[in-house]
Amino acid sequence: MNSINRIAIVGAGVAGMALAILAKKQGCQVTLYERDSKVSSIGAGVTLWPNAIFVLQQMGLEKEIKRAGGTPRYMRQFDQYGVQQGEFDIEAVNMLSGFPSVTILRRDLMSILTKALDDLDVEIYFGCSMSVQDIDRLKQDFDLVVGADGRMNSVVRHTLYAEKVNPCYQGFVNIIGVSQLKEGVLDNAIHDFRGSGERFGIVPVKAGLCFWAGAWNANIDKEGPLSTWYDEMHQRFRSWPDPVQSVLESYDKAPLNRIFVHDLDPLPYWHQDNVLIIGDAAHASLPTSGQGACQALEDAWYLARLLEEQDELENVLTDFYQQRIAKTSAAQTVGRQLAQSIFGGQSEPQSFASGISAEQLSQFWMQGLEMK
Ligand SMILES: Cc1cc2nc3c(=O)[nH]c(=O)nc-3n(C[C@H](O)[C@H](O)[C@H](O)COP(=O)(O)OP(=O)(O)OC[C@H]3O[C@@H](n4cnc5c(N)ncnc54)[C@H](O)[C@@H]3O)c2cc1C
Repeated sequence: MNSINRIAIVGAGVAGMALAILAKKQGCQVTLYERDSKVSSIGAGVTLWPNAIFVLQQMGLEKEIKRAGGTPRYMRQFDQYGVQQGEFDIEAVNMLSGFPSVTILRRDLMSILTKALDDLDVEIYFGCSMSVQDIDRLKQDFDLVVGADGRMNSVVRHTLYAEKVNPCYQGFVNIIGVSQLKEGVLDNAIHDFRGSGERFGIVPVKAGLCFWAGAWNANIDKEGPLSTWYDEMHQRFRSWPDPVQSVLESYDKAPLNRIFVHDLDPLPYWHQDNVLIIGDAAHASLPTSGQGACQALEDAWYLARLLEEQDELENVLTDFYQQRIAKTSAAQTVGRQLAQSIFGGQSEPQSFASGISAEQLSQFWMQGLEMK
């Protein structure tokens, strides 16, 4: 048996759950600690690009994910008047990568991961908001403590850095939601509308179901009621073309969320002793990178593979950082560049993947992901 066997994971988000599944499958004893009283399905949806589907296939979950999600063929970019500015062929990237791209509601993704954990009998303690003292205790009781506790207030990250690492606010707010449109309105394409300092993205899942995000430049104001943000969204996008109007007329108000969007600068290290951070806790990127959940899944796969291959914990943790830092930093940089071009006052927002071919994108996303 491998000497790194008892693993504590703090945070049952995408990164923590994926690692728990992969590590348990290869024989580790895994214990998950989650702050909330159940797995959170807050959030609208995610696009799982081919690199994420590669990992989900290794987890044995590709079929369920494809069943629950949608497979858009194009990403089309429009200006705020509805004039198409560009089109990106998602199927070309899928073909080159050897894996599909799947759009899925977050609640469906999380319920698939939860079921996989249940099937594997992974021990999960809910309602455990871990403190710095708790992490110190876990360090004594486990071979490895993994912080997958998210971007904003990662306690595990806090134990690694004497000076608290503060996520950077990038100057825009996102309102995210889910809508049921008439079937066919979205024509199996991700719709990305951009104005100056404003963006409205709509992602089809299936049969008219879609998730979306309206975003604009804003100062942080957590005091004002949520309703004022929704009113502002309606006001800002009231003259934008369909399907933006259809979305705004038909969204489900319950899961609506307002997010002041933060990310992290690349960090110089992610581990100390037997403690490691992964996912957003280590390298949160902006939603404009489209890669946050995908990179969280990749982290889980890389770490599980290193744990299987190596006996020395220090080597596992050092190699993990070396294998992951370039790609995750690139996702952080790309996210910032795109956000800057949309929300930073440039007159002509840069197009999605401008200047990058399907070949380059596929090579970048799939880099390092090889079957055993
Ligand atoms: C608007 C928006 C749109 C996005 N769209 C996409 C997309 O299309 N594609 C994509 O790949 N990514 C997308 N992302 C990013 C993606 O959602 C995140 O990168 C991903 O969820 C990170 O997963 P994680 O497991 O690292 O963190 P999280 O999902 O944040 O999970 C952290 C978990 O840790 C728990 N926790 C926190 N503190 C503690 C504690 N002290 N003790 C115990 N538990 C704790 C939390 O309750 C939570 O369950 C988007 C993000 C946003 C904001």
